[in-house]
Amino acid sequence: RNRTARMNRHPQPPVRQVTRFDELPEYQRVMTQKIGAQMAGIGNPFYRSHDKAAGATTVMSGREFANFASYDYLATNTDPLVNQRAKEAIDRFGISASASRLVAGERPVHVELEHALAKVYGVDAAVCFVSGYLTNVAAISCLMGPQDLVIHDEFIHNSALAGIKQSGATRRLFKHNDVENLESVLKTLSSDFRRILVIVEGVYSMDGDIADLPALVELRSRYGFWLMVDEAHALGVLGETGRGSFEHCGIDPHDVDIWMGTLSKTTSSCGGYIAGSQALADVLKAEAGGFVYSVGLAPVLAAAALTGLEILAKEPDRTARLRRNGALFLRLAKAAGLDTGLATGYSVVPVIVGDSVRAVQLSNDLLEEGINALPIIHPAVPEGMARLRFFITCNHTDEQIAHAVTVTAKRLKDLQDRNFGLGSIDF
Ligand code: PMP
Repeated sequence: RNRTARMNRHPQPPVRQVTRFDELPEYQRVMTQKIGAQMAGIGNPFYRSHDKAAGATTVMSGREFANFASYDYLATNTDPLVNQRAKEAIDRFGISASASRLVAGERPVHVELEHALAKVYGVDAAVCFVSGYLTNVAAISCLMGPQDLVIHDEFIHNSALAGIKQSGATRRLFKHNDVENLESVLKTLSSDFRRILVIVEGVYSMDGDIADLPALVELRSRYGFWLMVDEAHALGVLGETGRGSFEHCGIDPHDVDIWMGTLSKTTSSCGGYIAGSQALADVLKAEAGGFVYSVGLAPVLAAAALTGLEILAKEPDRTARLRRNGALFLRLAKAAGLDTGLATGYSVVPVIVGDSVRAVQLSNDLLEEGINALPIIHPAVPEGMARLRFFITCNHTDEQIAHAVTVTAKRLKDLQDRNFGLGSIDF
């Protein structure tokens, strides 16, 4: 009775149940942004419609653009061999894997692809999932649980965060690319955890800088955690033959416990993978919800990704050209006074412009000039750190790169001179 009396002295406001989607605060936020942008005359840069395959160039509403918004790093998306193999796979297997591989069975191309992925890292085995996002969610939530700890770089991709959340593990983060800070987190651990997982990215998707794998591997040998590296933007990009971070950093790939990657970027398909030991693959194939209870990778996508890997192995020149282009973009951008943040000049080069409104307007201005580059705005990055992200491909020409940099610098300066941004627009 005492407890009830106490509670009555501090009555809680009744929770009002929301039944309509347009009453959601999320909806109000979206609408405020939309109306604000309309009032300010700023067009929506997202969901632009492309008339055909988009690589180093693209066509929208009949007009050609230099395209810096595709992950087609090695130009495999329009490669005739990839298309031919994909068509053959459709003729042989149809489109869909129909259901989970567990019950609807595998196609030889699934096994071939997983062997090829394992071969890239020189490890025992690989397992493919239907998207890169799902790969992180399914693998992390399968391996980790409430008695475990995940420590991750603060800039890790949303899909890894979703996996950690689903796992119920304790989550700690360390300062971006700061291995000393990671060690200080490891030193202060008070509870006993069943498993500890550290997650980093080979090439960071928002900043284009790279993980210090040798230092992380050294730390792993002392603290005994599992190390997971997301190679989404590193496969086909880093290393002499494009095999990714381990090749670039000169580490033994076996010193990373979990190699994760996507099939949507360098291999221009759709799907994701985990590569590592046979035991890891066996556990995921038997226990990961996103594998067991989800449809298998479409055979046509597996065939396309497999062909992408074949091209990667046979034509290292594509990786060399991509890297040359990334370095050129970075050098020219710095010379033009653009803020490229932490970028090291590989697959992703951000140009940091300040607030979200300015980033959106700059993207629209570049479109007028025949350049497609997309803004990344709050909450994907902190407000004030909004940016345009330029994705580099091996097929960009020197002229396209030089033109993009010159025009970006000019149009950004115009916006800065007009003080165009949140400060000048009343939302
Ligand atoms: N990891 C990283 C680092 C990414 O950037 C992305 C997507 N861009 C993913 C995972 C998810 O991959 P996908 O888009 O193939 O689902």
